Amino acid sequence: MINSLSDLAFDGRRVFLRSDLNVPLKDGKVADDSRIQASLPTLKALLDGGAHVVLASHLGRPKGEVNPKYSLEPVGAYLAEMLDIEVKLTDKPVGDAARQVVSELKSGEIALLENLRFNRGEEANDEGFAKDLAKLCDVYVNDAFGAAHRKHASVYALAQLIPERAAGLLLEKELEALSKLRSNPEKPYVAVLGGAKVSDKIKVIEALLDKVDALIIGGAMANTFLAAQGKPMGKSLMETEKLAMARSVLSRAEEKGVKLMLPVDLVIADSIEASDARVVPVDAVPNDAMALDVGPQSMRNFSPVLLAAKTVFWNGPMGLFEKPAFSQGTMSMAKAIADCKGLTVVGGGDSLAAAKQSGLSEHFSHLSTGGGASLEFLEGCTLPGVQALEL
Ligand code: ADP
Ligand code: MG
Repeated sequence: MINSLSDLAFDGRRVFLRSDLNVPLKDGKVADDSRIQASLPTLKALLDGGAHVVLASHLGRPKGEVNPKYSLEPVGAYLAEMLDIEVKLTDKPVGDAARQVVSELKSGEIALLENLRFNRGEEANDEGFAKDLAKLCDVYVNDAFGAAHRKHASVYALAQLIPERAAGLLLEKELEALSKLRSNPEKPYVAVLGGAKVSDKIKVIEALLDKVDALIIGGAMANTFLAAQGKPMGKSLMETEKLAMARSVLSRAEEKGVKLMLPVDLVIADSIEASDARVVPVDAVPNDAMALDVGPQSMRNFSPVLLAAKTVFWNGPMGLFEKPAFSQGTMSMAKAIADCKGLTVVGGGDSLAAAKQSGLSEHFSHLSTGGGASLEFLEGCTLPGVQALEL
């Protein structure tokens, strides 16, 4: 059993809130506040409940060392301005100074611990580091879905040290949406996979083959599958060492009666600079060209399948969508999924950016904030950060 916020009392108590505030920074400022926004409901609930909030997150990969480049200072400043309250940032995640800041908190105030990954103990799931964090709180709340697949001290060892622990609102919402995909998804269930690599996502492909009625593959991932079918892919981004794996996926899909759909046409160019972008059938990619997006006929094939679906999961763009010349496939994929009346879930960092770029994000049922975590969950894994919350 896992507690919800409503199962615990917060008034006047020190509450450790593990959020995912790992936002992109630019020129020392928050460049995209999506993760902060997603963390707000739980943060506000705790503040309203009179908690002394001890807020903690990682940011980037400082590899166990204090590095001002990865300071949470811009995040603290952003929160302070948005909530119009003082946010006191500690110098380090643990230690005397952090303890001092936390001890001076009053109800409805926030202490923001400096980047958890400034301490080696975080990624090592170190018991000593977890105990130091435990000294800062009476109650533990994990709302960091994006970090739930990591066995790190703040999401794993610490949770088990604090008997009064709960899942935050975002974590609950993520698990609820993704659970619907994992157990008894309404059929037809269609998964759309794309992005850069097959190897990143092979485990989720395997797990999805047992669940879905159709699997649509696009992006550079499709290049590897097309090459596995013997199509010349020119200079396209693909994984030549994964052709056998792709062939085995193709034959297993057939055995299981899963309709596996690949592009029938591609947008190609001689380089990603693309002044010469053009559409060709999949078997006509010249040696000196690369496939950078799925073509319009492919999307005409995919769209009705998506429209008829009752459940859709999408991870991975259909092409190099960051460049307008190669964004058409991904944008029409976003449109096709947005038009579907069933449950539609999007996961993955770049996929989320693409969904936003399409301007249709409010037409999806759920945008998952955790890329790796959502894939691992759909693979059938028990996420360490969720397991550690069990009572
Ligand atoms: P997500 O973050 O949603 O899990 P990935 O990281 O797996 O997605 O893949 C996204 C990246 O794949 C994007 O940067 C996109 O430009 C790239 N990509 C997709 N298709 C192609 C392609 N055909 N050629 C080169 N890059 C591609
Ligand atoms: Mg990515």
